[in-house]
Amino acid sequence: MALPLSAEDRLRIVHAVHLEPQTGTAFEVRARQLVRITDPLGEQVSDLVSFAREDRAEWLSSGRTIDYANTIYLTAGHTLYSNRSRPMWTLVEDTVGRHDFLLTPCSPDTFRIIYGNTDPHPSCFGNLARHLAPFGIAPDAIPTTFNVFMNVTVDGDGELAIRPPRSRPGDYLLLRAEMDMVVGVTACSAELSNNGSFKPIDVEVLEDAERAPA
Ligand SMILES: [Zn+2]
Repeated sequence: MALPLSAEDRLRIVHAVHLEPQTGTAFEVRARQLVRITDPLGEQVSDLVSFAREDRAEWLSSGRTIDYANTIYLTAGHTLYSNRSRPMWTLVEDTVGRHDFLLTPCSPDTFRIIYGNTDPHPSCFGNLARHLAPFGIAPDAIPTTFNVFMNVTVDGDGELAIRPPRSRPGDYLLLRAEMDMVVGVTACSAELSNNGSFKPIDVEVLEDAERAPA
């Protein structure tokens, strides 16, 4: 399913970040702005989280979103909801069609508990915590992330498997903001999620030039 932008839409880039491997960023978006997350090299996951700009106690909710979509596989046409059941994002275009909303952002504890790795290791959680702190968002407030391009399968017994992302070079997900938000995005740091290598992610905030506020 796809909801292509109309040819009449004239979009301009208002903010762009090239995320180096194993890094993150945070920024504000306004309602009706678009965020495009692009995987320039392929097979790279990008974790996304957001908070209502007017009240950071309202956050992007995996549970609410899966409840209302009645699927764990979200793609173009689906809405991502907040913990207060308000729409935060509409998925507008999706050239991949497989993302994850079950698993938390990789963290130092992920690497310790699952992989037995006690060495310092970059993580999506650490990158999000660092970049969201200036917006007044504490690490404990970071919920389950929407893991763009992450390919998680579930077998008949409910067992999960993390498989290589299906994204190819240049694939992207385009989301429309449904409210003013603070947004955090990463280029994921977990070996298993990214088929064993770490690659960049491109993030752009776009808006309709004709409807842009003065
Ligand atoms: Zn990660």
